[in-house]
Amino acid sequence: MTMGTGAATGIDRAEIRHELSRAAFDLLVIGGGILGTSVAWMAAQAGLRVAMVDAGDFAGATSSASSKLVHGGLRYLQTGNVRLVAENHRERRALAADIAPHLVKPLTFLVPIYKGGPHGAAKLGAGVFLYSALSVFGDGVGKVVTPHQALARVPALRADGLRAAAVYGDHQMNDSRVAVMTVRAAVDAGAVVLNHAEVVGLRTTAATVTGAELRDRLDGTEFGVDARLVLNATGPWVDHLRRMEDPGAAPSIRLSKGAHLVLRRHDPWKAALTTPIDKYRVSFAIPWEDHLLLGTTDEAYEGDPAAVRVTDADIAQILDEAGHAVRDEQLRREDITYAFAGLRVLPGGPGAVAAAKRETVVTRGAGGMLSVAGGKWTTYRHIGRHVLDTLTHLPGHPLGDDLADILPAVPLPGLASPDAVALRLWSDREPGARMDPLVARHLATHYGSIAFDLARLIRDDPALGERIHPDGPDIWAQVVYARDHEWAATVDDVARRRTTLTVRGLDTAEVRTRIAALLATG
Ligand SMILES: Cc1cc2nc3c(=O)[nH]c(=O)nc-3n(C[C@H](O)[C@H](O)[C@H](O)COP(=O)(O)OP(=O)(O)OC[C@H]3O[C@@H](n4cnc5c(N)ncnc54)[C@H](O)[C@@H]3O)c2cc1C
Repeated sequence: MTMGTGAATGIDRAEIRHELSRAAFDLLVIGGGILGTSVAWMAAQAGLRVAMVDAGDFAGATSSASSKLVHGGLRYLQTGNVRLVAENHRERRALAADIAPHLVKPLTFLVPIYKGGPHGAAKLGAGVFLYSALSVFGDGVGKVVTPHQALARVPALRADGLRAAAVYGDHQMNDSRVAVMTVRAAVDAGAVVLNHAEVVGLRTTAATVTGAELRDRLDGTEFGVDARLVLNATGPWVDHLRRMEDPGAAPSIRLSKGAHLVLRRHDPWKAALTTPIDKYRVSFAIPWEDHLLLGTTDEAYEGDPAAVRVTDADIAQILDEAGHAVRDEQLRREDITYAFAGLRVLPGGPGAVAAAKRETVVTRGAGGMLSVAGGKWTTYRHIGRHVLDTLTHLPGHPLGDDLADILPAVPLPGLASPDAVALRLWSDREPGARMDPLVARHLATHYGSIAFDLARLIRDDPALGERIHPDGPDIWAQVVYARDHEWAATVDDVARRRTTLTVRGLDTAEVRTRIAALLATG
């Protein structure tokens, strides 16, 4: 099989480096997590000349280690943050309806109520009703159902002591795929982006930050970028960058580690579980990518952000807490296919980590660099707009006054009904040569109409239509596409973030070797 060898690659890193170092940009965004990507997207839409770089892969850190929820945040009702919930709901519904209906899908949640549990049925019933009211009942009315009705949705739910369950609606996504689609949207809007490019120092002119020194982590090439304004969107590394600007900068944030597990699922789940553990914390058990996603922990973290790992104690805690509501048969260690951990960025200051509000912090340093950290995946467009607004109203107007207005609802690339795309992928070929419906559905819900580009690759080289691993729906065309159009440069970029191989536990040594060979032929 030819597998795309000789195909022209759309990503030429040397050329991008040249473009980055040649031009003077209006804005350099350091950090290609979802916050940096959102600001780059918004700023490019406003007509600015934008560069964005990431030391690792786009969304390779926190932004691919989330609970994958696009949600209002039921828990915030407990801290009385009604405004935050309403704002999250608005963004959630915009993403699901207008911006990315191909990537963000609705999910029903049950809050099981057990005898002796931390909250009673009346309180939780009122809570989910208020929660649904704050999204103007767009996902139905939050209500309480019987144990029988709850078990019909989640057969693995623990039945003993179950009194009732509160029901509400939210959404879920594959965070890495939504992130890479947003990077594409930023590039479509005119941004110049590069991953695996680390900022190792800042450029200054008369004590003002005017760019950065970079090192390409893949081949060691050093280069620089000049910009009128620099935005530090490095998430857990935000203070590290602030100290590059001002070695005496005081810490602005605290970190809290959150770990998740992915397990093989034995039964279909028609709903997710949000199980209260104590006053503030909940345990999620979420059907995701045909598996079960469990999480999460919440524990102060002070080490190197790059070294964050899931420990054996995390695994024990997650399984134990999930066991409040999930039967033991569904919580076997041998069913774990993947474990991952990320770091929440919380505003600095006193107070227990789990009770701190998840707000966004924007600060300006001594050299004029802006730093943004915190916030939620769900509200990324809102945060991007807010940061852009802050940038444009800075004293002295470093970005000038003539910014274009941003359209309110620019969709992500591939916008389409996933049902329609799946149907077309399946029916476009003759009976007998049809795409497996599971593969068609997978492509439709992870690429939208871009799946037709993958279908074209398969038409030219049928071997690309084969599954990478017989137990999962990912196909070889995704690897070629990731290499040529999605900045995938390493095996992990492909296996962990452009496809679902790693989360399903299917990135065997043989699969990794074949992916490496395909990347090398770009
Ligand atoms: C456990 C957990 C669960 C969560 N669940 C949800 C959820 O379900 N729903 C939701 O809405 N939100 C959730 N969140 C919040 C959400 O994931 C984060 O708010 C969001 O991902 C933060 O993105 P970011 O861009 O700020 O950070 P990051 O994604 O960490 O991006 C920062 C980037 O900066 C880069 N960088 C660092 N140093 C340098 C350098 N020197 N040069 C160049 N680049 C550099 C890094 O490589 C990294 O990619 C969760 C967070 C955690 C931790």
